[in-house]
Amino acid sequence: MPDDVPPPRRPLHPRLHTSLSHAGRAGTHVHGFVNPPVHRGSTVLYPSMADRRGAGAHRFEQKLIYGVMGTPTHWPLENVIAEIEGGTHCQIVSSGLAAVTTPLLAYLKAGDHLLMPDSVYGPTRSFCDGMLKRYGVETTYYDPCTDAAGLFPLFRPNTTVLFTESPGSHTFEVQDVPALAEVAHARGAKVLMDNTWGIHFFQPFSKGVDCSIQALTKYAGGHSDLLLGGITVNTEADWELVRGTALALGQFASPDDCWLALRGVRTMAVRLERQMASGIAVASWLRTRQEVAEVLHPALPGARGHELWQRDFSGACSLFGVVFQPQYSQAEVWAFAEALQLFGIGASWGGFESLALPTNGFVTRTAGTGHFGGQLLRLHIGLEAVEDLTADLEQAMAVLGAK
Ligand SMILES: *Cc1c(COP(=O)(O)O)cnc(C)c1O
Repeated sequence: MPDDVPPPRRPLHPRLHTSLSHAGRAGTHVHGFVNPPVHRGSTVLYPSMADRRGAGAHRFEQKLIYGVMGTPTHWPLENVIAEIEGGTHCQIVSSGLAAVTTPLLAYLKAGDHLLMPDSVYGPTRSFCDGMLKRYGVETTYYDPCTDAAGLFPLFRPNTTVLFTESPGSHTFEVQDVPALAEVAHARGAKVLMDNTWGIHFFQPFSKGVDCSIQALTKYAGGHSDLLLGGITVNTEADWELVRGTALALGQFASPDDCWLALRGVRTMAVRLERQMASGIAVASWLRTRQEVAEVLHPALPGARGHELWQRDFSGACSLFGVVFQPQYSQAEVWAFAEALQLFGIGASWGGFESLALPTNGFVTRTAGTGHFGGQLLRLHIGLEAVEDLTADLEQAMAVLGAK
């Protein structure tokens, strides 16, 4: 696909830089130090029985009660994530997947019906088809690219949750979240969104989302050395539901990992700025290659989902997809990935290092969507020099040969 239009260069919102430097600073909790120490603890001692007896009433607040309810190492991270998502409260949980499953359990009950995009993150699908099904919740998978009119007939009287993930983290369909959320709300359903790709670029609560999920394992951690999730809401009622469920499940994130993630988010805007630009540069380069049929990167003019991205997002992370020309086989694309020197083959993303992951055969679809006509490869662009990454991709293209 020719690429005459220069890719957009959108500076990050200046407020993100300021937020990430200041939001959630631990302040007086830690004797004036800039960062909190790692508070490790289960037992909290009380001066009297009266204090002990009243403690549980504060479980929806940032108060020391018992380790599982959070510590001064968790709170700054919760506050900074809530701020960048534009919500009021954030619950930190042990992984991104836990940040998906906890609100699903909070908003659903036996007998309910759930709408899930066909492009959804695989483990989220497994949770719906396994555990939620066993507990009496039925899931219908819908075309992620549907408009409001297409979604409307899928609602049933018992549909209580519309789940969105935009763009899909393997095939990058951008969803019309505001329009879909309007239908959901008209039908009395809550809107959950996996906003891991959007980070701060997509502001969920101004677009109809009730509960936003992020795998902080990705750019917040930023160094491929921790697992964490954040669940953010913006009303007290949603907070009681989500927080109550997280506590009921015994969800707890290690204070060591929260401390690392807090360190990560302080530099996240700088990394994102660089990785966004590098991602767009590498994606644009790939578009010029004859081996490549299509690049699935919503920030590229002319790409699928670009108009919606342009309308709803203020930037892009560095995760995108490549569709090879149909003549290349799965074995050839695997050989291509193995020939890369700087890109590691592996799951996850958002770290400082680049990754490549062939996805055909690993991604499940049941609503008839997701046909791209060629082998798919997902790339995560790290902090390496763009010219080194394109040189690496170019040398690996040699294994594909000219066809
Ligand atoms: C990685 C990821 C998750 C899960 O995060 P983990 O911390 O690895 O459990 C959830 N949703 C999306 C879109 C992801 O990419």
